Amino acid sequence: MSLTHADIGAAVAAERGWMEELLVRLVEAPTTLGDEEPGQAIMAAAFADCGLEPISVPLDADALRADPGHSPFSWSVEGKRNVVARWKGSGGGRSLILNGHVDVVPPASAALWSSPPFSARRDGDWLYGRGAGDMKAGLVAMTGAIRALRRAGVELAGDVQLQSVVEEECTGNGALQLLLDGHTADACVITEPHPDHFTVAQVGVLWFHVEIRGIPAHAARAATLGFNAIDAAYTVLAALRELEAEANVSPPPPYDGFEHPINLNPGIVAGGDWTSTVAAECTLSCRLGLYPGEAPAAARRRVEDAIARAAAADPNLRDHPPVVRYDGFACEGAVVAHEEPVVQELSAAYAQVHGEAPRLEATTATTDARHFVRHGIPAVCFGPRAERIHGIDERVSLSSLAEVARVLAAFVPMWCGTVNEEGAGA
Ligand SMILES: [Zn+2]
Repeated sequence: MSLTHADIGAAVAAERGWMEELLVRLVEAPTTLGDEEPGQAIMAAAFADCGLEPISVPLDADALRADPGHSPFSWSVEGKRNVVARWKGSGGGRSLILNGHVDVVPPASAALWSSPPFSARRDGDWLYGRGAGDMKAGLVAMTGAIRALRRAGVELAGDVQLQSVVEEECTGNGALQLLLDGHTADACVITEPHPDHFTVAQVGVLWFHVEIRGIPAHAARAATLGFNAIDAAYTVLAALRELEAEANVSPPPPYDGFEHPINLNPGIVAGGDWTSTVAAECTLSCRLGLYPGEAPAAARRRVEDAIARAAAADPNLRDHPPVVRYDGFACEGAVVAHEEPVVQELSAAYAQVHGEAPRLEATTATTDARHFVRHGIPAVCFGPRAERIHGIDERVSLSSLAEVARVLAAFVPMWCGTVNEEGAGA
């Protein structure tokens, strides 16, 4: 059966309570790196509550490391899983992946939050919590859309897969595992918090860790006997800031309209072991963006060369130059053509709900979309309105969540095709 515009609207509206309740439970599960499983258990139950059969797709460290598209990781992925549920179509239609990540970044500073970061506080249209916007509301919107269509009796021609993945915030290896295991489709929508526009281009990201050595001594004799590794980190950082500045001088399309598309972020600094000892070691952990088209290996060379040059010019670093180590993101950018059918048809579904087509944009961040694109599956990001992601008092709009579900519920039958009374694809 096929539904009218109004039928779909009513079916999604009926899921609002279910979706909000699911979002609260998800936000209250603090699914930071290594603790994703409680969130995956909730998502598996939510998929089952749509009348689908969730399956687990465990992360396989050896298989991941054997794939050239993986990002390096030093931690164990033992026991980690993605959760996938397939809504089988009757055949003849195009297939679709709806994908979201369950992992979230740490709270940055729990003390600065107005309410505990994992307490899912509601205030009017906003729901607060770490990961509420990035991207648990997206997971909820895509699942709510499918639940609405199924409960309304829609029968699809093509298959839809719901995917809840781990490790989007550090490597993307969760999404990669799904592709390695054959969980593919004709197109993919990732419900990252990109409202009122679709994201069709993204930068690559490199994580690197610079290990700097100093010469420890009593602080009282620091000037004559010691060399402080923490001070030396400034020298390294200054060289990296120059690298960043160069990359932003004349950005190539689609980043030519951006003022500062390439960002270097020193995210973690760790060093020293005693306040009155000249620091012997300091590790500077950084994230650097790269334009689509640059391989992570080339970005690594740029980073290593910049640090080597700075070390050669410094009398203290010359003898024991910093060592660069790689752990986490090593990924290229990705671009999807505006003419791709998934972009055009999702835009049409968006216009049905909002009265106008969305803007098509590039982001200065990375998402799991790159894995799908590299495997020949066009992927678009579109999801609920969120504010202050990775910041303090992250929040997501509940009305926006419902609108995204509404757009997805309009899009899925359009993309996959529906089954008419005679049982043929239409
Ligand atoms: Zn995200």
